Amino acid sequence: MASADRYGGRSRGVGITAGRRRAAKPLLALFKRGMRVALTTHVNADGDGAGSAVALWHLLTGRGVRAAITNPTPFPQRYHFLLKGIERADKSAAAVKHLERADAIVVLDISDTGRLGHLARIVEQASVPVACIDHHASDGTLPPGPRLVDAGACATGELVYDLARAARWQLSPEVARGLYVAMLTDTGGFRFSNTTPRALQVAAHLLQHELRPEEIYRDVYASEPEGKVRLLAEVLETLVVEPANGLAWMTVPPGALERHGVDAVDLEGIVEFARSIRGVRLAILFRELANGRIKVSLRSVGELDVARLAQQFGGGGHQRAAGASLEGALGDVQAQLLSAARSVARC
Ligand code: AMP
Ligand code: MN
Ligand code: MN
Repeated sequence: MASADRYGGRSRGVGITAGRRRAAKPLLALFKRGMRVALTTHVNADGDGAGSAVALWHLLTGRGVRAAITNPTPFPQRYHFLLKGIERADKSAAAVKHLERADAIVVLDISDTGRLGHLARIVEQASVPVACIDHHASDGTLPPGPRLVDAGACATGELVYDLARAARWQLSPEVARGLYVAMLTDTGGFRFSNTTPRALQVAAHLLQHELRPEEIYRDVYASEPEGKVRLLAEVLETLVVEPANGLAWMTVPPGALERHGVDAVDLEGIVEFARSIRGVRLAILFRELANGRIKVSLRSVGELDVARLAQQFGGGGHQRAAGASLEGALGDVQAQLLSAARSVARC
């Protein structure tokens, strides 16, 4: 429904490109009343994965589709407020069962199975259509199915918005909130380079659906567990700056997450402290994953392409935000990565 803002303006929503409208069609044709659709995203869902999934769950459920959120890792505590009243939507604890029974799968916020954790094999071997809604530049490796993939979107949430627009589906406040959280978090609070005029236009339209931005800000950014702030203090202690190379890097001390009773999602944003230093062109955060691999988060300022750097190590991502997970001891991985980082940062 077009809704009035406080200045009396009314918005019918933001127009979508012909390309996205075309891409949305086969996806919409897939959804049938009564069918089972499993929604999944990458390990340690972020605000985009979580918000897009909740929004799509509401959109599909409202049309009689039996949707279920089936993530490879538990729905992050930080985004649990999105599930209030619809806790039943999250079937991540029984994801395998739900994926195996699904009539279609929708993969959100990734275009390949590399970051689907223990669900990768099930999605790869699925005999049902595997749809994908994503804004990553990577060449996808997913089983066949409709694709709504556009690296020009600021977040997967923007593409879910387009899907709803293409279908002329009404946005409920719950849908709008999920999409707003997706776009808010993937743009770093509407600050990063993906904060396009259109991203703000879509966000403005979403706000017209009874959203309170201050309340959402509080839910997402100002409801931190004490442990997160203490973890931040520990990670900041490890900061190394190499001004000559335009490089800053930090390390999550082994066992720090457990010690402070927080989970990986609480690391979101910490790497920004390294990136915020004047003269830094490349910021890196290292941490050990539960499986013993080393996760590297890469952020750049300006033209430096960290997706290319991440690809050298089997990872990927966006030009200014990328990551990889490497085999090896922490010290060895650091030495290897820093050496590559110094050569690209110096250029
Ligand atoms: P992160 O540093 O985990 O916040 O990730 C930043 C971006 O890098 C993500 O949005 C992904 O696009 C990408 N990324 C992170 N980790 C990996 C990985 N192991 N493999 C491929 N891409 C990754
Ligand atoms: Mn993501
Ligand atoms: Mn995203």
